[in-house]
Amino acid sequence: SSITNITIVGTGVIGNGWITRFLTNGYKVTAYDPAPGAEEKTREAVRSAWDYAGKLGLKEGASEENLTFEEDLGKALAHADFVQENVPEREELKRSVIASIDEHAPKHAVISSSTSGILPTVLQADCAHHPERVIVGHPFNPVYLMPLVELVGGNKTEDSFVDKAREFYEGLGMKPLIVHQEIEGHIADRLMEAVWRESLHIVNDGVATTEEVDASIVYGPGLRWALMGPFMTLHMGGGKAGMRHLLHQFGPALKLPWTKLEAPELTDELAEKVITGCEAQTEGVDMQKMEERRDDFLVELQQLLEKYWP
Ligand code: NAD
Repeated sequence: SSITNITIVGTGVIGNGWITRFLTNGYKVTAYDPAPGAEEKTREAVRSAWDYAGKLGLKEGASEENLTFEEDLGKALAHADFVQENVPEREELKRSVIASIDEHAPKHAVISSSTSGILPTVLQADCAHHPERVIVGHPFNPVYLMPLVELVGGNKTEDSFVDKAREFYEGLGMKPLIVHQEIEGHIADRLMEAVWRESLHIVNDGVATTEEVDASIVYGPGLRWALMGPFMTLHMGGGKAGMRHLLHQFGPALKLPWTKLEAPELTDELAEKVITGCEAQTEGVDMQKMEERRDDFLVELQQLLEKYWP
């Protein structure tokens, strides 16, 4: 591919995850983040993620040493073929950072934003030079292990840049999903948001603890969702006649939805309940160990997915 040099703007949780993914795939990465101590934190994050990321396969030439930090944004972008933006999720900030990237990056470079919810049309609005190469490339945490990346273009985006990004992400072993219409939250976060809202209602109404809500997913739908999405899960729930039978039987129930749909008000009381609930679940547990367990599990689960969904 024509992509050799990658620039990362913003090296927090997501930026560092991308850096690890790019480095283990053999790319050269230049990073920019004005926060004091950013470089040390990134190098530490890359080191601790490296072995897990490597379980998905290390490409030839992969090395932690292919990472350079630059203190000047213009310098960081001078040779970029692909830019991944990961600054905090604040519209004004993102718009201005993306406008500066557009000013400094070579015009062939793709500018991909990790935004969880902001529309690409909004993100590219202030670009005075080449807004046609601005897209959303929304990843999932931990980026060095999760395959999904949602790709969305805005009003001014040219399809060729979406195609270029898709090819590039595929080359990293990812599963790009092109979202054809821009909506806040793209697709997966919309779905997660719905489950999150209902989880808060259930805790707020005293129906279940945070631990019980988690168990209801881990031992139930979560197992099926790891293999199939909501549609195939329910298609099978309809027996041999599939979705046709399921809709016949349960379609009318949609008129009396169980869900509350609107988010509950995040009162101090609810926040406290959720926080103490989660803290009770992790009492005496080392968060680093939890991350390692999650990463081990995600690696094995993806191997299973390949076996069952080749
Ligand atoms: P974070 O707070 O961990 O990191 C943001 C980083 O940006 C910090 O290191 C900060 O110093 C840096 N920064 C601030 N201003 C900057 C500037 N002007 N130029 C360069 N760097 C700057 O945030 P995060 O969780 O990594 O989220 C980053 C983006 O990724 C957000 O848009 C978020 O919506 C998206 N995202 C997050 C997740 C997640 O699970 N955390 C998942 C998918 C997408």
